[in-house]
Amino acid sequence: VERTLAIIKPDAVKHAEEIEDIILNSGFTILQKRRVHLTPEQASEFYVEHYGKLFFPSLVAYMSSGPVIALALARENAISHWRMLVGPTSVTEAKETHPDSLRALYGTDQQRNGLHGSDSYTSAEWEVRFFFPDSIVE
Ligand code: ATP
Repeated sequence: VERTLAIIKPDAVKHAEEIEDIILNSGFTILQKRRVHLTPEQASEFYVEHYGKLFFPSLVAYMSSGPVIALALARENAISHWRMLVGPTSVTEAKETHPDSLRALYGTDQQRNGLHGSDSYTSAEWEVRFFFPDSIVE
């Protein structure tokens, strides 16, 4: 069993109950869950890999614009399964190519795309610990 970090971003928090139902119906277990309003400093730290990119300041502003819901999810191949369920980064592309994906259903635009998923084992472990510092390593 693998774990990954999911974030319901500020624009999608109003759909959190529906999204959590889809998560559970897709074979994931929710290990931990936390609703948190990130400060701009915390959002910058979380997205430090994008530091210096043109969209970084507005990404930080968006991610600190309201509460998010962070979820530590578990299932086999959790990282790739969650990214498939989330869909492409661009909501326009998601609507065209993956209409059942969560970003197609609940995202707003290229930046406010509703959801996040860790992209590798290393980032998943780092990101789970970012939100759940007391989480247990298996
Ligand atoms: P995430 O890391 O949130 O799961 P991702 O891996 O699909 O998304 P990244 O390329 O890591 O996408 O970008 C991180 C986030 O930055 C995106 O989810 C989106 O909110 C925002 N973003 C990415 N590219 C752009 C862009 N060109 N313009 C505006 N915002 C962007």
